[in-house]
Amino acid sequence: MNPGEVLVRVDACGICGTDLHIVEGASRSNPPVVLGHEYCGVLEDAGKVPGLTAGTRVAVDPNISCGSCYYCRRGLVHLCQNLRALGVDIDGGMAEYCIVSEQQLHVLPEGMTTDEGALIEPVSCAVHGIDLARISVGDTVAILGGGTMGLVMLQLARSAGAALTILVEPVEAKRTLARRLGADLIVDPSHEDVRATVIERTGVGADIVIECVGKPATMQQAIDIARRGGVVEFFGVCPVGVTIPVEPNRVYFGELTIVGSYVNPHTFTRSAALLRAGKVRASDMMIQHFPLEGVHEAFTALREGKTLKSIITPQQ
Ligand SMILES: [Zn+2]
Ligand SMILES: [Zn+2]
Repeated sequence: MNPGEVLVRVDACGICGTDLHIVEGASRSNPPVVLGHEYCGVLEDAGKVPGLTAGTRVAVDPNISCGSCYYCRRGLVHLCQNLRALGVDIDGGMAEYCIVSEQQLHVLPEGMTTDEGALIEPVSCAVHGIDLARISVGDTVAILGGGTMGLVMLQLARSAGAALTILVEPVEAKRTLARRLGADLIVDPSHEDVRATVIERTGVGADIVIECVGKPATMQQAIDIARRGGVVEFFGVCPVGVTIPVEPNRVYFGELTIVGSYVNPHTFTRSAALLRAGKVRASDMMIQHFPLEGVHEAFTALREGKTLKSIITPQQ
């Protein structure tokens, strides 16, 4: 280990769509690399880092900015021109142990479960998305996609003061979860006209639309169901090179704001606080656990939509 580095014994590491994209060659990566960017564990060796001792429970922020490029100096660390990530460019958390720089560590709040610890990273990305969506108390927030991120967004939108939440999701099990998590209007896009349903309920369209699917059709639909002056957020990740047609007059006359949200600048602490307070409920995320040897099985389950969230537990 270099100075400033620690050895983490990994307790839990989530798998998400980004890992699938990397495995399928549809996303940036630097192979050969150990995947896993959503993880927590225990310090096996705290190195010579002041204030840290072996046995401390930590979560790891995978995104490493350079600190000296134009964007870093403007405080936009997530847009860093030299951004690297553990589990993408550098060996990450799908392993028994992982070496991590102390700058990437966040000590887990007292009493936090390992499942919650593994969810801090994905929830921190959603917290950034909620910041950029600029929800006002009383807004109608429509969320396209009821996967892990859509259901996290649903909970955060409610916390942010949405008066009406609409969740659009074709898979029944995910719609059931959305109902349990408090979605006010749940739409099955395979049987219902999404735009007609949203207009019928709101009269004008949604104040805020958050796309959490990552497909061109739902990106387009997000624009279709926003009201004039509304905000459309592209949170889902489309394959590289995908395009959608947008009518400029829809943006011009309708004063639409289209905003992207990428990773998690300085949102780790708030994410941990939300999970700790039960504002985002890990227990309702249909988590399935796999041992390290079960990683291929976990990928298959995710690809086939059989699980909502798969978590690798390398110590079991
Ligand atoms: Zn992820
Ligand atoms: Zn930078």
